[in-house]
Amino acid sequence: MLTSLAASPEAVPRPRPAYRGFRAAVARVERLTPHFTRVTFAGDDLASFGTAGLDQRVKVVLPLPEIGFAAFPEGDDWFGAWRQLPAEERNPFRTYTIRAVRPELHEVDVDFVAHGDTGPGSAWATRAQPGDEIVLVGPDELSEGRTIGIDWRPGDVDTVLLAGDETAAPAICAILESLPADASGAAIIEVPSADDVLPVRAPVGVEVRWLPRVHEQSHGERLVPAVRDWVARTCWLRDCADPASAAAESSRRTLAELESAADADGILWDVPEGTSLDGDCYAWIAGEASVIKALRRFLVQDAGLDRRQVAFMGYWRRGRAELD
Ligand SMILES: Cc1cc2nc3c(=O)[nH]c(=O)nc-3n(C[C@H](O)[C@H](O)[C@H](O)COP(=O)(O)OP(=O)(O)OC[C@H]3O[C@@H](n4cnc5c(N)ncnc54)[C@H](O)[C@@H]3O)c2cc1C
Repeated sequence: MLTSLAASPEAVPRPRPAYRGFRAAVARVERLTPHFTRVTFAGDDLASFGTAGLDQRVKVVLPLPEIGFAAFPEGDDWFGAWRQLPAEERNPFRTYTIRAVRPELHEVDVDFVAHGDTGPGSAWATRAQPGDEIVLVGPDELSEGRTIGIDWRPGDVDTVLLAGDETAAPAICAILESLPADASGAAIIEVPSADDVLPVRAPVGVEVRWLPRVHEQSHGERLVPAVRDWVARTCWLRDCADPASAAAESSRRTLAELESAADADGILWDVPEGTSLDGDCYAWIAGEASVIKALRRFLVQDAGLDRRQVAFMGYWRRGRAELD
């Protein structure tokens, strides 16, 4: 087994919402690189925040001018109640990954990607200051569903492939740090610049490749060929020695051709259960939706991976806000 989600010894499951709002405040802001900002949230409520890690997703709820979080609903059906609110009382929220949890300090870290002021999440993180209040909607360590929001489910496989853009970097780093020492595979991460490469611990058998975009390259331009190369090198490709095969043809297709074919699929998210995987490989890919769909198409249709071996997550969509 590559990972285990065993509860910490002091956690006693009892009925309470699995995924709930935690009130917290910014304790520290660290500009890690030009495009990554680590915000550490702290607050007594975070003592029972879920500790499972990996690619644990949360909603970061942002304050409204004047009313802050006065209207933000609590309880199990916070989303249903939020949708019923008048537009001016609906706090914006966005999805992020928990990079680290320190329950003993009541602290949680989230690494935000800065992409300008085009979205409320990026704009908020760029200006975050200690003392700023926030609500995190995430897993409750004391609930039975404490692993809700985790999509890394590799089962018991021999080889893992993690691939994504900068928005997936926090999840990929957290997953890498959780892998057993004898894990093998690769992590391929495309980032906005050479200065955005982050330090990460990984098992020796897992090759970690950071791919900075250069000369105005767009998302996926480095990631897609690098994944194809890695797959070809590890010979997952069916018929990879045959230059006339579908796989070989695919590797000659441009990113634009792959993307437009993938868009026709119209799928944004598909996470297999994974627990029954055994002995083979598992791919986890996340980032800009059209790039990720192109990669999934390549892995499944050309490289011949079973769909149950590919977790595929569109983390954001070019030109579209998260809640569009
Ligand atoms: C499960 C999950 C985990 C995620 N984890 C993280 C994480 O740990 N860190 C992180 O930074 N993001 C993460 N994301 C991605 C994040 O939710 C999106 O980037 C989100 O759109 C950011 O919200 P925003 O308010 O900044 O922009 P939005 O209001 O959603 O979008 C406004 C505009 O910005 C564009 N845009 C959005 N994100 C980017 C980007 N990264 N680069 C360039 N343009 C962009 C959109 O296409 C749109 O045109 C995660 C997403 C998911 C689904």
